[in-house]
Amino acid sequence: MHRLVEAPDGRYDVAILGGGFAGATASRRLTQAGLRVLIVEARDRLAGRMWSQDDFFDGHAVEWGGAFMLDRPSYPLTWREIDRHGLALEWGSLEDTTLIWLSGGQRRVGSMPVPVDELASLERLVVRLSQLASRIDTQRPLEEQDVADLDVPWPMLLEDLALGPHTRELFAAHIVTLAGDAWNVPSALPLLHGIAQSGSVMAATFFAAPYDTPMARTLGPQLAGGTGALHAAVMSDSSADVLLNTRVSAVTGDGDAVRVQTSAGEITVDAAVCALPIGVLSSVHFTPAVSPELRLLADQGVAAQADKATVFVHDCPEPFYAHGIPPEGGFATASTTFHDGDRAIVVGFTSEPGILDLTDHAAVEKALRQYVPGITVDAVAWHDWAGDDFSRGTWSYLRPGQTSVRPAARHPLGRVTFAGSDYDSRLGVEGALHTGGLAAEEVLDILGH
Ligand SMILES: Cc1cc2nc3c(=O)[nH]c(=O)nc-3n(C[C@H](O)[C@H](O)[C@H](O)COP(=O)(O)OP(=O)(O)OC[C@H]3O[C@@H](n4cnc5c(N)ncnc54)[C@H](O)[C@@H]3O)c2cc1C
Repeated sequence: MHRLVEAPDGRYDVAILGGGFAGATASRRLTQAGLRVLIVEARDRLAGRMWSQDDFFDGHAVEWGGAFMLDRPSYPLTWREIDRHGLALEWGSLEDTTLIWLSGGQRRVGSMPVPVDELASLERLVVRLSQLASRIDTQRPLEEQDVADLDVPWPMLLEDLALGPHTRELFAAHIVTLAGDAWNVPSALPLLHGIAQSGSVMAATFFAAPYDTPMARTLGPQLAGGTGALHAAVMSDSSADVLLNTRVSAVTGDGDAVRVQTSAGEITVDAAVCALPIGVLSSVHFTPAVSPELRLLADQGVAAQADKATVFVHDCPEPFYAHGIPPEGGFATASTTFHDGDRAIVVGFTSEPGILDLTDHAAVEKALRQYVPGITVDAVAWHDWAGDDFSRGTWSYLRPGQTSVRPAARHPLGRVTFAGSDYDSRLGVEGALHTGGLAAEEVLDILGH
């Protein structure tokens, strides 16, 4: 079992910088191999961008960051942990869900995402997405395939389709929900890869909503005990020491040792795993300097910068799933994850970074009322991950051109290896578990274990 320490307790073989899921996974592997490991974490808690809190409002828990578990084929490592530790899942309300679409300034209710006169446009989009995705071999790493022409912003792949304005807006709403930024910012490749993996455009996009609601069924379930239970499960098999409230500022790899400069002093170890988000790497000084590929990723940061909010509401007569580009700004997707009488919990993803002041309840209420007139906001849970010094962004979603540099970016730098979902084609927590394992194996190689 891991233990919290106030200061380093003797000499450690390996330091792990950052105690999110990537750091936790690396610590488990390395301590099981018999190494003495110290996790150095800047926050006063572990788990980084997946942070759950019990009893936030009216007895309900909240997930401030990542929450949804994708399907088994996309998240094999995560599901292995869920199964192994017997964690319970919540799939959301099974009540009928009202579908609300907002595009071209028009609010529509019902199973048809676009007006009838745009059905041909929607079909053109679906066919194009299928054709592009069919070029991807899901059994081989993306960076080894001839798909550079797909590693571009969406407008470049769709501009000749003459999409109708509603189709275009709803697809843009889908992209901002997935990628956390406007549809001309992220690369098209990750979603095309997702379509290839699931074998269906509908299964990989929110256009499946008419057939497969509520949101939990389109995004995946949440953990009944919160994501904190999943992190605790990983850490329960790690015997690392954990130093909280300690910020890493410099990492020097010289010869046989790595020196880690922290706010609590210098720590010398035989090897280190850097499991920090790429958005914060620019604030850590590396000697020797990191590779040009990692420098590029660190300077660009993750694409996803838009906000997720969990909103506790009443005057909400039915569970709903709403999707669109609200004319007055607000949520690109808003959906009930819990509904009881007229009370509900709504999870919303904003239509643009910074478009909505989520500390202002009246503004959040106004934004939701574009979808559900009369809805009343009781409480809002939101964390500013983009402004947070220890994340500088939300989830990992690649920008154009990043796929080809990503493998080289994670190459060990002497005795320092790198982990974190931001380096991986597997999204979210799955990428963190995957790279945490890879970085730990690299450390074992370096140390000759
Ligand atoms: C709003 C939001 C919604 C998301 N939704 C989903 C979802 O539904 N499903 C999903 O799978 N994923 C989701 N994600 C992504 C998921 O949370 C992350 O991919 C995953 O948690 C990243 O894990 P990590 O270990 O790579 O990085 P992190 O969790 O960021 O861990 C890095 C750790 O390093 C620490 N650190 C940073 N700087 C320093 C420093 N200088 N010194 C010491 N420590 C430092 C941080 O405090 C942190 O604990 C979401 C993320 C956000 C923010």
